[in-house]
Amino acid sequence: MTDAEFPPVYEPPRASASLWFEQALLADGWARDVRLTLADGLIARVDTGVARQADEPAHGPVVPGLPNLHSHAFQRAMAGLAETRGPAGDGDDSFWTWRALMYRFLDRLGPDEVQAVAALAYLEMLETGFTRVGEFHYLHHDKDGSAYADPAEMAARIAAAAEETGIGLTLLPVFYAHAGFGGAAPGEGQRRFIHDVDGYGRLIEASRGAVAGLADAVVGVAPHSLRAVTAEELAAIMPLAGTGPIHIHIAEQTAEVDACLAATGQRPVRWLLNNAEVDRRWCLVHATHVNATETERLARSGAVAGLCPITEANLGDGVFPAAEFLAAGGTLGIGSDCNVLIDAAEELRNLEYAQRLMRRARNVLARGPGTATGGDLYRAALSGGTQALGAASGGLKRGRPADFVTLDRAHPALVARDGDALLDSWVFAGRHGAIDGVWRRGRQVVSGGRHHRRDEIVARYRTVLSRVMA
Ligand code: ZN
Repeated sequence: MTDAEFPPVYEPPRASASLWFEQALLADGWARDVRLTLADGLIARVDTGVARQADEPAHGPVVPGLPNLHSHAFQRAMAGLAETRGPAGDGDDSFWTWRALMYRFLDRLGPDEVQAVAALAYLEMLETGFTRVGEFHYLHHDKDGSAYADPAEMAARIAAAAEETGIGLTLLPVFYAHAGFGGAAPGEGQRRFIHDVDGYGRLIEASRGAVAGLADAVVGVAPHSLRAVTAEELAAIMPLAGTGPIHIHIAEQTAEVDACLAATGQRPVRWLLNNAEVDRRWCLVHATHVNATETERLARSGAVAGLCPITEANLGDGVFPAAEFLAAGGTLGIGSDCNVLIDAAEELRNLEYAQRLMRRARNVLARGPGTATGGDLYRAALSGGTQALGAASGGLKRGRPADFVTLDRAHPALVARDGDALLDSWVFAGRHGAIDGVWRRGRQVVSGGRHHRRDEIVARYRTVLSRVMA
């Protein structure tokens, strides 16, 4: 089934609309009895302490939608398939055995399959509180490794999935050229990812065309990792970013740190900070294995640490020193990465819980005495994720995108909670049933916790996956 078979079910955004909420997490703090007036996908006006009109529905507490700064959408379809221990034995299953399965799986995915899987993933992101996704997109070529007639064929399918679901898209086409440090030739399993620098330039240009129909899409560049890109190639592709963001996987695995040390004499994050102008445009995805000096330098650079707590736990990556990084003034955001389970609140919960388990302490990532851990992490992930995705500033304020989430006041976890206690209870005690509605660019796309196109998108996903798995 292609996009063309879906009738357009969304009303175009009305020129203006207003919504009343019992309380709202505004850019400058919580407020009660709030009316947001929306126009052209933006928040045109914010009124606080205003009575609800008789004909206005009463919406529950409203918070800004979170950015999901790192996704590989197609991996949603293999969620749960890599949880059986391999033949090697105790302790030998790793990121690398997971990657081998992922390579075999993606051999079965063509454009229609990628669009169907991405639409399901984006629907789940919206239903769980993410309103923009950074798609770190590396499945570029046909199954035999040859280029599609349109180099952005797959990027166009990602854009189509974003359009179907309504999620905001920051497309990060990936530059991938080598299998390992020192410019090693790519392996057979990587044939669908590979470009030279000129081909990548054409991909970026075509990707900009592929997202042109989306209201607020952003295109950045994404050198896959220091394993996959030489120093010369990294320097050559940086200018293609323009004003867009630059994302890279880095220091996710200790084997990668060892290989980088062997090849360059430096650890990956140190090498990158020494060899590229790492600044606020950058997002270092994972950055799990950093020493104290790298942590300080990364924090000072202004780059975002792109943490993917559920994936990092699932793949056995390790734990990023988030407390030290925040204490040094670092900026972080969260991503769903392999999409084994998509849930904004659960990413924040896992981020904090890993720190608690490591330190045998509680409320590790709260900003200071008396502040709420869930509330602080929510604001940090909003600000850092928005920066990493090169999007217009987030938060509920006049002139900002009308991207927000209402919590279900009737949910048992949220009874008699107000302000940051709502966020704490959602993050640590709520599960995604705590979400009622989600609006994106002023359009409501989720009501009663369900995406408006859930039935058709899930039905198509079932058909496609049954074929893929046959
Ligand atoms: Zn990733």
